[in-house]
Amino acid sequence: SWLSNKEGAMKPRLVVLAGPTAVGKGTVAQYVRDHFPEVRHSVSTTTRTIRPGEVDGVHYEFVTEAQFDQMIEAGEFLEWAQVHNAYRYGTPKSAVERELAAGHSVLLEIDLQGARNVREQMPNALTIFLAPPSWHELVNRLVGRGTESASEQERRLATARIELASQDEFDHVVVNTDVAEAAREVVALMLDDIE
Ligand code: 5GP
Repeated sequence: SWLSNKEGAMKPRLVVLAGPTAVGKGTVAQYVRDHFPEVRHSVSTTTRTIRPGEVDGVHYEFVTEAQFDQMIEAGEFLEWAQVHNAYRYGTPKSAVERELAAGHSVLLEIDLQGARNVREQMPNALTIFLAPPSWHELVNRLVGRGTESASEQERRLATARIELASQDEFDHVVVNTDVAEAAREVVALMLDDIE
């Protein structure tokens, strides 16, 4: 790839990719996964129910509310949050620490509260906000994917409005107009960050 001569120089770094619902965080992260295998991804734990096409242990570690409580008590999370006032999601600490120690950069695809928590605990983390080209486009993407009920869509858009107002907190903002472009920008920011 166009970055291949620099890839070996990538300093292990914790990178947070956050952004509102339906902005395409998952698609951008998948592109990074496919094209930059040296960037590791963390499998989050969640209390939400599994969707068709999802694989337990791959997309998420699906657990019960009680199991999630136990993990919090045992201090197993780097960060966790209740997202969209519904389910809880968390980043297991041990896997992230293991990858960083092994010299790999780790990309976390988490919500805004999670990004804040990571920033507090690991001030060296690089934080990137993925923004939609416009509010109209964000609404189109959410409605278009049709995976949420109308009331759930409303709830997510209410959260998204607040999240879009907070993008100044991030080290960088990447606008997701084109997935490949946005993914390259994310990786370029990780590389720029070397010195
Ligand atoms: P979904 O249910 O659509 O898979 O994810 C809903 C939201 O949860 C997304 O905004 C996603 O970024 C966020 N999320 C996924 N994993 C984590 C995590 O480990 N921690 C936090 N704080 N948010 C997460």
